[in-house]
Amino acid sequence: MTYFDEVAETRSRADLDAMQLERLGLMLPHAYEHSPIVRATWEEAGVHPRDIRSLADFTERAPFIDKETLRHWREDRRDPYAGLLCVPVDDVTTILSSSGTTGEPTLQPQDWGASGGPVRAGLSRDLWMMGMRPGDRVMVVIFTFRGPAFGMVQQFGAVPVLCDYDAGDMIRFCELSLEFRPTGLYSLSSMIVHAIAEACEQGGFDPTDVFSSYRAMVQAGEPLGARARGIVDGWGVPLFEHTGVGDVGTAFECPEHDGLHFWEDDTLVENLDPEGTEPVGDRERGELVATALVNRTTPLIRYRSGDIVRLTRVPCPCGRTHSKLWPVGRKGDGVEIQGRKILPIDVWPAIESVDECSRGLFQIVREAPQMDRLRLRVGYGPGCADRLGAVRDDVMAAVADLLDAVPEVELVPDADLLKLGPPHKIPRVAPR
Ligand SMILES: [Zn+2]
Repeated sequence: MTYFDEVAETRSRADLDAMQLERLGLMLPHAYEHSPIVRATWEEAGVHPRDIRSLADFTERAPFIDKETLRHWREDRRDPYAGLLCVPVDDVTTILSSSGTTGEPTLQPQDWGASGGPVRAGLSRDLWMMGMRPGDRVMVVIFTFRGPAFGMVQQFGAVPVLCDYDAGDMIRFCELSLEFRPTGLYSLSSMIVHAIAEACEQGGFDPTDVFSSYRAMVQAGEPLGARARGIVDGWGVPLFEHTGVGDVGTAFECPEHDGLHFWEDDTLVENLDPEGTEPVGDRERGELVATALVNRTTPLIRYRSGDIVRLTRVPCPCGRTHSKLWPVGRKGDGVEIQGRKILPIDVWPAIESVDECSRGLFQIVREAPQMDRLRLRVGYGPGCADRLGAVRDDVMAAVADLLDAVPEVELVPDADLLKLGPPHKIPRVAPR
């Protein structure tokens, strides 16, 4: 069977639109009634849920909420739920937080209890889509602040095998893999990929054996660089990219490996001009704006996520009709060099093409939003402290080759940059 839920995953665009409108019709009055921040935002904009009779009404009239607004609400009113909590506080079963890569972590209370968590149906579709099946064992390597990831595996009917998200624990990962023979792995980052490769070498494990039972591995956080990607390719297991959708939903790659599906029956997504309110074109870079359609606990409505993505509504060859996106970066991560906007993803391939910097740990140093010259802080691996001049020259040449502009480069040990991480990613833009 190709789909976990064929009807839900292959609905026509017209059906999806109708379903979104119906769910908005339930969600907007609920949020307006119970969420103080939604009520205040809508009142200030002079809009009421009864004014929204079509999806067009919604995109024309509904006001936005952004991270700053939430932060102010949380601090000014000392409300840890940032004015979003719409259910009695006793109904909250779990408090998650965001990774805090770009500031104070955002708390995300959720209800994973009997009334049904908001994202679980979608996650079962995702696990199935990647080839996992109920009854399988799934290795869960994850940090705790992201919540009960093992819960989604249990809900699906598979058995989670738990391992700490810690570079020092990867010998254990190899042992658990050989012992329990999982079929799926959630989740990898560059840091964990390199740590597993080192653990195999140090512990005398044959990666082909360690990974022989796996059918799918999920990568989350930042995009894997070409180096880490090369290591994973050597393990011979398909890799699926995963990302969050504006703190509202989730998105996973399908077997086509060309874009990440998100489920439009639980999240309404717009892709807008990052500096304005107009939608950008199909597959163009825009800011992801998300609205919760089923999460009645803390529904974000027209949330400007600050995430830059490309997005397409063209149906996928895999048969799923729900839209797909490609993560590009963070809105705040951009820097303008002589009038040209540069995101970390634009310099990444150059940095990791240099052997000593293959982990792709680097930061754009931003002294001002607009600068004359690109400044980079780049991490280097152990064993090359005696030839840093040559390494710096190589990095400068590689970046110049790619961007046609020679950067200033400051080298620091990888370990120093890793300390900045939460830990699956590091801030990619730093003040001086
Ligand atoms: Zn697809």
